[in-house]
Amino acid sequence: MPKYDRNFTDELRERLSIVDVVGRRVPLVKKGQNYWGCCPFHNEKTPSFSVNEDKGFYHCFGCGEHGDIISFVMKSENVDFKTAITELAAQAGLKMPDYKPKPAAQVAREESYYQIMSGACDIYQKLLFEPMGVTALEYVRRRGFTDEMIQRYRIGYAPKNNIIANKFVNVKQENLMATGMCRRGDYGMYDFFRDKLMFPIFNARGQIVAFSGRCLDGSEPKYINTTDTELFHKRKTIFGFNFARDAIHRANRSIVVEGQIDAIQMQCHGFPETVAPLGTALTEDHISMLCKANRNIIFCFDGDAAGQKAAARACDIVMPFLRDTSDVRFAFVTGGKDPDEVLKSGGTTAMQKIIDASTGLTDFLWNLANTGFNVSTPGGRTQAEKFIKQKTDKITDQHLRAEYEQEYNQRIFNQWHKWKRQSQNIPKIDMPGVDDITKKTVIFIVNQYPEIAERYGDFLATLNINFDDNAPDMNIDEKSAEKYIVSLKLQKYMARLQSQKRDLTARLLAGENVRDEIAVLDEQINTAMQKMDALISI
Ligand SMILES: [Zn+2]
Repeated sequence: MPKYDRNFTDELRERLSIVDVVGRRVPLVKKGQNYWGCCPFHNEKTPSFSVNEDKGFYHCFGCGEHGDIISFVMKSENVDFKTAITELAAQAGLKMPDYKPKPAAQVAREESYYQIMSGACDIYQKLLFEPMGVTALEYVRRRGFTDEMIQRYRIGYAPKNNIIANKFVNVKQENLMATGMCRRGDYGMYDFFRDKLMFPIFNARGQIVAFSGRCLDGSEPKYINTTDTELFHKRKTIFGFNFARDAIHRANRSIVVEGQIDAIQMQCHGFPETVAPLGTALTEDHISMLCKANRNIIFCFDGDAAGQKAAARACDIVMPFLRDTSDVRFAFVTGGKDPDEVLKSGGTTAMQKIIDASTGLTDFLWNLANTGFNVSTPGGRTQAEKFIKQKTDKITDQHLRAEYEQEYNQRIFNQWHKWKRQSQNIPKIDMPGVDDITKKTVIFIVNQYPEIAERYGDFLATLNINFDDNAPDMNIDEKSAEKYIVSLKLQKYMARLQSQKRDLTARLLAGENVRDEIAVLDEQINTAMQKMDALISI
């Protein structure tokens, strides 16, 4: 077994939730403190396999298997330690360390990187208050930063010359380049950041791993960040997390805003639990990190199209991390403002109002479906339903997923399939699934006998018929009408059973032992056919 640094395996355990790792293979349901599922290591029908999220281990009360994320992957996938670690590292978005074994040289190198970053930060901090930093200082003060804030966030100024390359002449050039602070050009080493307002980016332990530099001459892009290095991975670094970690714990939630200045202003004005991704794109790694700290998240984005898009993306990414205890919400800052401007004009109270008015994830996703598709047409509704399903499918907790599905099915029925004829402008679209005569008959029945429509509403909604179409003239009495709907329902039910039986038969032929399931299906099909016979003979 190769020697892996304990730090790395610890980091994997810290980064990854065991519920997420196990949940990929075993459907889990939360009961009490633990999650439960059917044990993947022995054959069972009732769950005796428990997973404890806080402690990070699993235990089977049936066969006694227990362990952590690493042993779970090793045992459930029958792979060796190294393969398991590699797979988990990929899930955690961590680069596999090059342990053969971990060379002292690497430790020294990393230490040197941290020293360069911290030393550079000291230099930048000093320069901000010197004459050459006056434009930067004026700018940052105009943005509402007090000297105390400038100190706390270690904000500085990178001058126009190559100050880092010149000051760190005694440091190996390779190391300077490896930190992303300097590059080598035709005329020697030059600084990556020049004439920028400098925001250091800290890792969770509070060490500087990168910088974000803001342009002061109005050129684009407004911000440039250190490119990815050994110390810094943009995709899994959250700005402000080191400052917010304790506050997230106390507030029992995190707030995610779009920009780092917004994050700092929020942290300093009543919302210390605020963080921001670097650049606009949220990644799974960001959410994973936040969820490890706390599963309640409020995404607070601009109300413009870009903000809406960012929120939709956040919604997509957060789905696999949902638990029955999660509270994920979406708040929008409208009026072309960002949180920073809201805090400046209306203070903490104005921001609090926006946070209070946030929309829960269930409603947010529903709104997305309603605004993203034309739900007044069957085609649009189908697209919207697929859209919702595609999101809810990502929920790993199967009970929670079922609850979400049921919630949306109800909304789809209650809000999209209205019985009352509304506007006449609804575009007519040919609907698949039900033939024309059936469609006309059903529309007639629904319009003629609202009680029947009410009674079989759930089923009728699945037919994908536009009930706002003009009702044809027909001659069917109420009793026959009900029989008609019931027989339709039975036909659909039988069709479903038959298709299930086809699947099972295929599996049987492939050598699976599914005889019992087929027998159960046969019985159900028989019962349905008897019901059908009875219906016709009345
Ligand atoms: Zn077991």
